[in-house]
Amino acid sequence: MSSYVWAFAEGGKDLKDLLGGKGANLAEMTNLGLPVPPGFTITTEACRVYLSTGTQPPELAGQIDEHLAELERVMGRRLGDPADPLLVSVRSGAKFSMPGMMETVLDIGLNDDSVRGLARVSGDERFAWDSYRRLVQMFGTTVLGIADEDFDDALDAAKRARGTTDDLGLGAADLRALVDTYKAVVARRSGAEFPQDPRRQLEMAVRAVFDSWNAPRAITYRRQEHIPTDLGTAVNVQVMVYGNRGADSGSGVAFTRDPATGEPGVYGDYLANAQGEDVVAGIRNTLPLAELERLDPTSYRALLQNMATLERHYRDLCDIEFTIEHGRLWMLQTRVGKRTAAAAFVIACQLLDDGLIDADEALRRVTGAQLAQLMFPRFDADAAPKTLATGMNASPGAATGAAVFDSATAVARAAAGERVILVRRETNPDDLAGIIAAQGVLTSRGGRTSHAAVVARGLGRTCVCGAEDLEVDLAGRRMLAPGGVTVVEGELLSIDGTTGEVFLGEVPVVASPVVRYFDGELHPEGPDSDELVRAVHRLLAHADSRRRLGVRANADTGQDAARARRFGAEGVGLCRTEHMFLGARREQVERLVLADSDAERESALAVLLPEQRDDFVMILRAMAGRPVTIRLLDPPLHEFLPDLTDLTVRVALAEQRAEPAERATLERDRALLSAVRRLHEQNPMLGLRGVRLGLAIPGLFGMQVRAIARATAELRAEGVDARPEIMVPLVGAVQELDSIVEEISAVLAEEAARTGVALDAPIGTMIELPRAALTAGRIAQHARFFSFGTNDLTQTTWGFSRDDVEGAFFSRYLDLGIFPTSPFETIDAEGVGRLIRIAVGEGRTVRPDLHIGICGEHGGDPASIHFFHDQDLDYVSCSPFRVPVARLEAGRAAIG
Ligand code: PEP
Ligand code: MG
Repeated sequence: MSSYVWAFAEGGKDLKDLLGGKGANLAEMTNLGLPVPPGFTITTEACRVYLSTGTQPPELAGQIDEHLAELERVMGRRLGDPADPLLVSVRSGAKFSMPGMMETVLDIGLNDDSVRGLARVSGDERFAWDSYRRLVQMFGTTVLGIADEDFDDALDAAKRARGTTDDLGLGAADLRALVDTYKAVVARRSGAEFPQDPRRQLEMAVRAVFDSWNAPRAITYRRQEHIPTDLGTAVNVQVMVYGNRGADSGSGVAFTRDPATGEPGVYGDYLANAQGEDVVAGIRNTLPLAELERLDPTSYRALLQNMATLERHYRDLCDIEFTIEHGRLWMLQTRVGKRTAAAAFVIACQLLDDGLIDADEALRRVTGAQLAQLMFPRFDADAAPKTLATGMNASPGAATGAAVFDSATAVARAAAGERVILVRRETNPDDLAGIIAAQGVLTSRGGRTSHAAVVARGLGRTCVCGAEDLEVDLAGRRMLAPGGVTVVEGELLSIDGTTGEVFLGEVPVVASPVVRYFDGELHPEGPDSDELVRAVHRLLAHADSRRRLGVRANADTGQDAARARRFGAEGVGLCRTEHMFLGARREQVERLVLADSDAERESALAVLLPEQRDDFVMILRAMAGRPVTIRLLDPPLHEFLPDLTDLTVRVALAEQRAEPAERATLERDRALLSAVRRLHEQNPMLGLRGVRLGLAIPGLFGMQVRAIARATAELRAEGVDARPEIMVPLVGAVQELDSIVEEISAVLAEEAARTGVALDAPIGTMIELPRAALTAGRIAQHARFFSFGTNDLTQTTWGFSRDDVEGAFFSRYLDLGIFPTSPFETIDAEGVGRLIRIAVGEGRTVRPDLHIGICGEHGGDPASIHFFHDQDLDYVSCSPFRVPVARLEAGRAAIG
């Protein structure tokens, strides 16, 4: 027979699944010898039986009776005894803390008779009647489902009649009358009298706690916090102790360290002559906990001693609830306390110094998500106005600037020294200059892996995307927001990329010392450093010493590569070359597309070659001595050509004007228009891009490879250790790679002959199509390395357009639990992950020394990094700002 009821002394802190967090910790404190009011816990298993069958397990009532009898024996009193009643509390307590989401009933055991017994033995009539009226109210609301207002109105009326605003202003007679009023409320609203049988009160309260697992707010909370729906709650039945028995009594909460900063010290609140519920409800102003030393030095000293015991025992920050009854301290609850990201780092190092935990454990106590939080500048929460709209929190940070609606204006205004926010319906590669110039980017469409989001994250620019309530009116140079608000160009906007909020006007920000440390502006041991910076420094160093995964960065410029290096990147895992075809170079791309002869095409490529070489020189120099994986051009060429509609209008207008002077331009525009039409694609992401482009436009990839070879030769001649790797995008079949490798090798051989120095750059491929993953064994015959492009691999595996779906229907999918987080954010281990496993396995079988990394956005995502560690990848590559996060998580993955 299952035991559905456990005495506190039988449990322990590791039994949270069965006893819930509260029950497990009460048991632990009991066994530590701390003063815990005695009691027992009804298990989550009993709750699960009740929730699935609609009835309690048949043995439960008998087991509760046995434990109750034992409790009565220990206390020397019987539940609800009219002469000297034992009273108990009934509290919920699930495995994961769900603060305030489920029910509690106090003072079970009071009725019309035992209230008099309580008055007599306590010598305090007011206290007895106050306890009874609390029971009738709590029982009425939580067990019988009566609205709070029915009781609150009666309480307010009683206070008005007595001419007081404070509960303490009501005397015994007032409270006794209030009990009658409350009982009448119960009878009227529930159709039955308030139950006088104490055992029946207990049974009904237990059932109400079980039921509260499925209260709407509990369901919502679980969904939000990703808590499984089938765990059920335990129920703790515990002897009542009272903090509301006069000036020598009270209730409080305490933390063993400051949960905001991690500072050791005395933190918490105390309320004299009050029950715990009053502290939380904020009915009266609490005192700082340190004041207790003055009020009750004995209890204060005992509390500090218990706090020290708990912290040593749990080896962590604990939060505690306690009650003092007539100068006697009782411990009512403890748990490992929640804390801010900063406190997590500081506390982990303090406990390490105190010898309570070792360095691995300290590393387990912090997360990449916390580190990311510490890196972004923040809005000063106290100064933030009402939000204008909310979008997706695509790239964290806090940015303020004048709203501008196109890239050119962003660049012009920024050049004039103005801070701007680039506001777009959606962005495209053309907006890069504007994104770089802006403090942040706001779009009304697109998801977390839309262009704006990826680029903004890469650059460390704040980005809120997919704020669908905003209507961007480019022509009108304005943005319409809900409530009839119009934001015109130049008006100040603030965007919070950590929360997705958009504000009108300027919100003050605070800078992050952690980023200043990574940037080398702050030395951990220097005078400006603080304990947080030292803790981050120390735990990252430990992560580096433990991790097996390498960490590289996705960087496209020398500046980015340099920053990534300062942040600890061991190379560049992805250098996207598309931005190198924009700006003034666009003219050459147009010539390339329009070329009707080899000579014309080669001439365009010849102009691009030295410029491209200079790009590579900068990035290879910044990463000297470390690998730089350069990806050959990926996006479809039409992205570099004028917009189809704009060009059509331009040609039509020029045709109408028929100015002889414009003749040559018109001819060129017509040719361009026909090329744009020819290249136009309905699904560009699945069209002429990646390796397909390299095969369709002869010489294009060759030019890029030549530029890499020349940049490398130039740098090596200077004594700089340039280490390029050449990566081919969007390969689906080995034949594609084979053809391109042949072209690349020929170019490298030519360059070697020209300079007399052979370039040994490894040639590899991205794996970003299911077909590539499924034929990885064959592809590995022609590739020295693989790099998983998990953005495209996710898109093509699910058939989700990465630019559209997140804004369109992902919130519905998340609500339905189809996935717990967007698969563009955290790798879908089951589906996309399976393809990765297949590709790694087959690739390494064919080529045991195949070097394998990942350069999609998942490379910087903590949960995904653990998956990549488990798959035995060699490295992850992510945006420079996520490099420290990846280092930390790779270390955490290694220690398990
Ligand atoms: C990818 O697809 O994961 C990738 C890194 O390439 P891009 O995002 O440039 O398509
Ligand atoms: Mg890709």
